[in-house]
Amino acid sequence: MAENTPIAKNKKYRRIATEEAWAPQELLDMYADLFNSKTLDDPGFNSLWGFYGTSMEPRPATVRRKLADLDEERLADMDAAGIDFAVLALTSPGVQVFDRDTAVAVSRDSNDILKAAIDRHPDRYAGLCAIASQAPELAAQELERCKELGFRGIINNSHTHGEYLSDKKFWPIFEAAEALELPIYLHPNTPPKNMIDPMLEVGLDGAIFGFGVETGMHMLRIITAGVFDQFPKLQFIIGHMGEALPYWMYRLDFMHNAQVSSKRYETLQPLKKKVSDYLKENVYITCSGMAWEPAVKFAQQQIGVDRVMYAMDYPYQYVKQEVVDMDAMDISDADKKLFFEGVATKVFKL
Ligand code: MN
Repeated sequence: MAENTPIAKNKKYRRIATEEAWAPQELLDMYADLFNSKTLDDPGFNSLWGFYGTSMEPRPATVRRKLADLDEERLADMDAAGIDFAVLALTSPGVQVFDRDTAVAVSRDSNDILKAAIDRHPDRYAGLCAIASQAPELAAQELERCKELGFRGIINNSHTHGEYLSDKKFWPIFEAAEALELPIYLHPNTPPKNMIDPMLEVGLDGAIFGFGVETGMHMLRIITAGVFDQFPKLQFIIGHMGEALPYWMYRLDFMHNAQVSSKRYETLQPLKKKVSDYLKENVYITCSGMAWEPAVKFAQQQIGVDRVMYAMDYPYQYVKQEVVDMDAMDISDADKKLFFEGVATKVFKL
């Protein structure tokens, strides 16, 4: 396929991409300022945004430009890749790296900018609401506002200053999300300071490995804390083929049961269901960054064809050939339509 040949529209299904990153230029400037200030004791952020926020190498410079564009360039890229519709989310770490008041203000401003872009291109975009988890009660209020504005879910970029949503102080967010029927996209962040060193020293802290380990653990913490026993209708979405969790389900079930029944940890209490049951009933999975047929099929087989959907991870992984590869998967027409269109339509109410 020549570089500029557009991928044809598919007549059998719309291609909906569900983990597509954006950031207003103001936020990118704040990331660069925060890195340059050398005041933030967060080696993951400084590694990631020291690179993407300030490097003049072609890849980071292109990513910065594409993140901030919600009009011509993004739509042209979607057209060239055959993407009909994109679910947009504030790039990692969103507002979660800031102090509480800054995070609250920037989340509102960002949501307003995204809402305006959706209004300009309502047939191409839907949005996820960015919240300041630093202020759970205010975040719940922002969710109500976002619901009224037509947002279709919530973006949470994993830990917030090393704290995890399994901590009950964050559960007002879950209460609001369940009541408003807004699914939560648990997107990676760089591993926190007390986790990152052995990865960072060998360059494995980012999307190559560290993101998946940290986000998979976050999803597990939410499950084992009993969040879905308290909020049974709450739905999460995790990318990158489920951050490896589908592949681990057998061991997760066996060892969770073994540890709980032997009362080894105070923090590991009995759940109403098996760990794998929550993955099948409260978690959706996208193929962001993992356009790999065997992994898609495994997740469809083990989690369910009604829970696995397409994502590109634009602009970090804008690879048109991946759309061609996913189009060509050896699965039934019905399951492929679910993968590209049906699951996303259902979970985001598009
Ligand atoms: Mn992503």
